[in-house]
Amino acid sequence: MSEIFTGNFTQQQPISEEAIEAAVSVMRSGRLHRYNLSEGEVGEVSLLEQEFAAYVGSKYCLAVASGGYALACALRALEVKPGDRVLTNAFTLAPVPGAIASIGAVPVFVGVTEGLVIDLADLEAKAGQADVLMLSHMRGHICDMQALMAICDAYDVKVIEDCAHTMGGGWDGVPSGRHGAMACYSTQTYKHLNSGEGGFLISDDEELMARAVMLSGSYMLYERHGAAPAPHVFEQVKYHTPNVSGRMDHLRAAILRPQLSDLEVQVTAWNRRHDILLEGLRGTPGLTVVKRPDGEDYVGSSIQFLLLDWSETHITEALNRCGERGVELKWFGGAEPVAFTSRYDSWRYAPSEAMPKSDRILKGIVDMRIPLTFSEADCALIARIIRAEVSAVYQAG
Ligand SMILES: *Cc1c(COP(=O)(O)O)cnc(C)c1O
Repeated sequence: MSEIFTGNFTQQQPISEEAIEAAVSVMRSGRLHRYNLSEGEVGEVSLLEQEFAAYVGSKYCLAVASGGYALACALRALEVKPGDRVLTNAFTLAPVPGAIASIGAVPVFVGVTEGLVIDLADLEAKAGQADVLMLSHMRGHICDMQALMAICDAYDVKVIEDCAHTMGGGWDGVPSGRHGAMACYSTQTYKHLNSGEGGFLISDDEELMARAVMLSGSYMLYERHGAAPAPHVFEQVKYHTPNVSGRMDHLRAAILRPQLSDLEVQVTAWNRRHDILLEGLRGTPGLTVVKRPDGEDYVGSSIQFLLLDWSETHITEALNRCGERGVELKWFGGAEPVAFTSRYDSWRYAPSEAMPKSDRILKGIVDMRIPLTFSEADCALIARIIRAEVSAVYQAG
């Protein structure tokens, strides 16, 4: 009898009792809006912003309604205008080019390497075309940030980091999000903190951050923020910055604060599971594991591997066989976007030139989330199943 996995790939952990208590207390107060504060009260949202800024080591932090909102807000704060070109990754998820398109700007896609990071040679070739790079640390893979920043600085390209998959991670000991001019995080259910929906924007630049706070819908209440620039900075931007409401509320902030205190523990738990999967898959005939470079402090909340140069029929067969044994794998190379697996040529509102080297890699990317409801034994079992089925198809093929 072959082993079957019966776990659920989309089941997250429950919200802790401490977070539930904090949420109930906000509801009892009736003050859910971030600016609805009693005399002398700082409020859950400002406290969360201060705590997140301290966690990543940034001067400023703004909590917002979603990660996608944070991305578009960062572009607006950098004064990207309709028709401007914005560099971004060919391998990322739909909210990234979507944020660029939402302000009428035009994505210019940069290729992906076998390490699943942005192709720095392609970036250098295209850097002259834009003033901004929206860099997605897609699926937690972090490129050589010193090399990337050297290219961007040489071409005077400002970097917005999309850290939806790297919250808690870093490069060479520097937290992910601390290299670019601004960085964005998501606290949506499937990311590293779970408030259903939500996000953060961080920066050390006072003017960019004052604009972001105004944009997020602060009216003239910016003095009620705990991790924002000083009031005089707002004097310079407040009449020129439109309100595009996307605030966070106290209820979400209340459930996020206890989760943020636990993030390091969660990161360790993810990495244990990730590493068991990685070791279990290493050496499988026909399967390429993704190298994690020295310097990368990853958060293994998902794992990817490559079935490079496999035919579509064989990839489909391997995935179906894993699926029959309860292991749900997602394939970025399918002809049609399924669930979240779209890629640059699926975004037909943003035409792109062909990228044959990246296409070869994208075609072979297989992806799996690692919910913390999986035990370490579950991960070992999943690796055995993938190994058996992928080798069987490869050896028959
Ligand atoms: C989830 C995600 C976002 C956007 O976050 P939301 O909070 O869902 O808007 C941005 N980039 C990537 C790579 C993501 O996975």
